[in-house]
Amino acid sequence: MNAFFHQQRAHGTPVHSSSAIQYIQAISRNGYARGVQNNGINTTLSRDDDQAAPDKPIRVLVIDDDIDRERIGRFIKKSKRPFIVVTAGSSGGALAILRDESIDQVLVDYHLGDMTGIELLSHWNKFKINSVPVIMITGKGDEDTAIEAMKYGASDYLPKKTLTPESLTSAITSALTAAELTRKLRDTQELLRHLSLYDALTQLPNRNLFFDRLNQLIHACERNRGSFTVLMIDLNLFKEINDSLGHRAGDEVLKSIGDRLQATARKSDTFARIGGDEFAAILQDVHKLEHAIACAEKIDATISKAIVIEGQIVQVGSSIGIARYPEDGLDQTTLMSNADFAMYQAKKASRKYQVYSPKEETAVSTKAHISQYLRKAIKENEIYMEYQLKINLDNCEVIGAEALARWNSPELGIVVPSNFIPMAERSSLIEDLTYTTIELALAQFVKWRDNGHIVPLAINISARMLDDQHLKDWLLGKLANYDINHSYITLEITETALATSGHAAYQLLEDFSNAGLDISIDDFGSGYTSFASIRNVNIAELKIDRLFIEKITAGSKDSAIVRSILSLAKSLGMRVVAEGLESPEQWALLQTLGCQFAQGFGIARPMSPSAVIQWIEGKTAPTA
Ligand code: C2E
Ligand code: CA
Ligand code: CA
Repeated sequence: MNAFFHQQRAHGTPVHSSSAIQYIQAISRNGYARGVQNNGINTTLSRDDDQAAPDKPIRVLVIDDDIDRERIGRFIKKSKRPFIVVTAGSSGGALAILRDESIDQVLVDYHLGDMTGIELLSHWNKFKINSVPVIMITGKGDEDTAIEAMKYGASDYLPKKTLTPESLTSAITSALTAAELTRKLRDTQELLRHLSLYDALTQLPNRNLFFDRLNQLIHACERNRGSFTVLMIDLNLFKEINDSLGHRAGDEVLKSIGDRLQATARKSDTFARIGGDEFAAILQDVHKLEHAIACAEKIDATISKAIVIEGQIVQVGSSIGIARYPEDGLDQTTLMSNADFAMYQAKKASRKYQVYSPKEETAVSTKAHISQYLRKAIKENEIYMEYQLKINLDNCEVIGAEALARWNSPELGIVVPSNFIPMAERSSLIEDLTYTTIELALAQFVKWRDNGHIVPLAINISARMLDDQHLKDWLLGKLANYDINHSYITLEITETALATSGHAAYQLLEDFSNAGLDISIDDFGSGYTSFASIRNVNIAELKIDRLFIEKITAGSKDSAIVRSILSLAKSLGMRVVAEGLESPEQWALLQTLGCQFAQGFGIARPMSPSAVIQWIEGKTAPTA
């Protein structure tokens, strides 16, 4: 325990600002978000674009209907920076130039012959050419109006009477820098969005995007009585290739299969990589059984073609499970688990594909058994909690303990949450389970408190519970009964849960937050929360998904992502906890990146309540 306390010191210098401007500046300093294309593919990260082409000429368009046009042009040309001046004497001329030529910066007089500068700006907005920064030039007494113009997208204004070559150059430089920063901010947001929706290796949609599209399609089909087919595709012999030729070769195989699937896909199809060597497909226009089978055969043939890797020829095959909407399932979970079941049947029989059949399913209904046991488990107190600490990396102070459910089953042994929570979520069992785990955790808080220890608690709340009508009153009632200060309780909601939640869920979180509980977004980065939706709720904490911490090294893509999440969180006033910290190297790097809080096996594993107290008491505060 406490394995590497003594090596830990505060390296990072936390930034305490929360303004959006600082966030933009942080992004600009790091300068890593480039190359995200509109289709979201080809994500590349580069850290040196700030230095790119410093002497590229800057094309400035000066729009003025009077003699000042020439004077301003002369001023600009006096600058040491390489400016090219283009002039327009009317708004019509300016619009034509903006549409036909590449322009980096616009200077526009407020008084034009045929319209005002503001009218011109609102025209630009219509033509969507408002990404070019605009500086408004004003005559005497126009300053108030110029400020108004900034609401329409102008980035600055300059009074004519004080114009000098220097003031012009400096205004242009600031406007260009601001425009560049805004672009980078957009790129970073786009990059984060892309990373959360696409698989980094194959560039295919990932699990999240796949299930999102599946859900949307199901809703559409409910309305228009549509039908479609889903496939689960598992590779055969992939493990053998990975073991004999190494992970790099394994990655190459996955990439090339990803490319091939993408190439065979029709526009309306979605092919996704949803696990290690597992792919899945939604075939929107396919419903007849013979068509579904023909598609599966075609996909298997595509996958089975030889692949040349590092001079060796390798060949993998596939086992495909086929399920159809609506007959094989009306919701995504049933549909995919039936396709999954059919895929296993295909594998077992060494067939290329298997169509789902309910008769086969009843023969192997272990799932039903587990859920029967789970019902009993909740009644008979087989569920208990372990606690995993979240600490401050700078001084090892405990900031809280996350309650994690465990199931000690006489029939099945110790069952981990990933094997029973998703199942409980598919039925009403999740309600009983949630109330049970919260009750256990709060009772523990009180026991600790009675022994003189305040351990702030983090409790996981399942997505399904966010529309539970009773949860709020019940939980607040419990806190009152136990006399627990609300500020000691954090509710962890997974990012995916939040992203797929409706208005009621946001309202519930808002109510909890208003009541003084902290809301934490769990597994952040793995789902696809839009930043807009985060802004709707008062989020106290982001927990960066373990995936980003697992292989993090200095200068890696993961560290760029972590840095970016940190800047975002800081600008929104949230604390950030890194999940899955396992090594001293990760500890040091996270501190360097300015990440102050973490959780992970390298700090403490989930433990019994008494072990938590031993840990806290055994911890000697590091000497500064
Ligand atoms: P989570 O909320 O992301 O919890 C963290 C999980 O990561 C825990 O697994 C923990 O043991 C594991 N973990 C922590 N540090 C490390 C590390 O350094 N390396 C690795 N490899 N793993 C680490 P656990 O206990 O199996 O829980 C799995 C998930 O089950 C949790 O993920 C949470 O989503 C869910 N869960 C657990 N308890 C409850 C509960 O009471 N209610 C609900 N709704 N969900 C729960
Ligand atoms: Ca959690
Ligand atoms: Ca987590």
